[in-house]
Amino acid sequence: MTREERYAAIYSHDTVYCPPQEEGCAMLEVALGCSWGKCNFCDFAKDKFTIHPMEKIEENLKILAELQPEKERVFFLGENALVLDTRKLLDIMALCRNYMPKVTSFAMYARFDDVLRKSDKELAELREAGLEDLHIGFESGSDSILAMMNKGVTSFEMLEASQKLDKAGIGYFFTVILGLGGRTYRNLHALETSRLLNRMHPKGIWCLNLKLWPHTPLEKMVERGEFDFMNPWETLLEERILLQNLNVENCFYMDTTALDLVTIEGMLPNAKESLLASINRLLEWEEMRCRYQRD
Ligand code: SF4
Repeated sequence: MTREERYAAIYSHDTVYCPPQEEGCAMLEVALGCSWGKCNFCDFAKDKFTIHPMEKIEENLKILAELQPEKERVFFLGENALVLDTRKLLDIMALCRNYMPKVTSFAMYARFDDVLRKSDKELAELREAGLEDLHIGFESGSDSILAMMNKGVTSFEMLEASQKLDKAGIGYFFTVILGLGGRTYRNLHALETSRLLNRMHPKGIWCLNLKLWPHTPLEKMVERGEFDFMNPWETLLEERILLQNLNVENCFYMDTTALDLVTIEGMLPNAKESLLASINRLLEWEEMRCRYQRD
């Protein structure tokens, strides 16, 4: 088997996605799909949720170790890999260290309710075993929007989970979906999202514009006139309100979809003013572009 064929053999899909902060890690698939799978906007959950058996994980790990023996960090693939039983996660971590002795840390995707289902003792054990960071879909700090999108968690539970992670010393990165409240909730989304984020300690916030994926419940909501999608300019206005009200410390902020065109990024709080200046320039540019097209 060629090197490419061996890589292909250990993943379920041809393209393997991981958060930008984890690019360059060894990626080990421990599950497929999402145990929740009901968020109205999501098309990531199309895979039937499956937790891989230990034998399959070990077989794939052996191949991964041969292909990437120098890696020091392993990212566990699966839309919310933290849902796995703690004992199983600890066993997989031990196996990783066995086959890849240079590995010192781990990261994975999680949902807030996965965190809440673990006791403080379990989280401490996972941290002790090398779990350094979780990547969590925060999406919105507004309970109205979370409910409308069927996220399955409340802002109170999100805060509670972040406090458990702080206590265990496990870091967390969030994705926030700009435009998730549509035109109806745009100010509420920005204000309540910043308000909740200000009570947490994320290492990073990755903003993404809401996308309408085919065959999702959100597509039906739009067809029925129940959701009023914002355009990229309105979404950027919303982001400006979010950022103006955001007061987090030591947090890397990025938006890879500003106007669906460019990336803006910087370390908060120091980069806040330059990020806002970039947003203002983009808003002016978009206004000029639209005027030019109209004339
Ligand atoms: S928790 Fe994440 S992966 Fe699962 S359905 Fe919601 S958005 Fe999709």
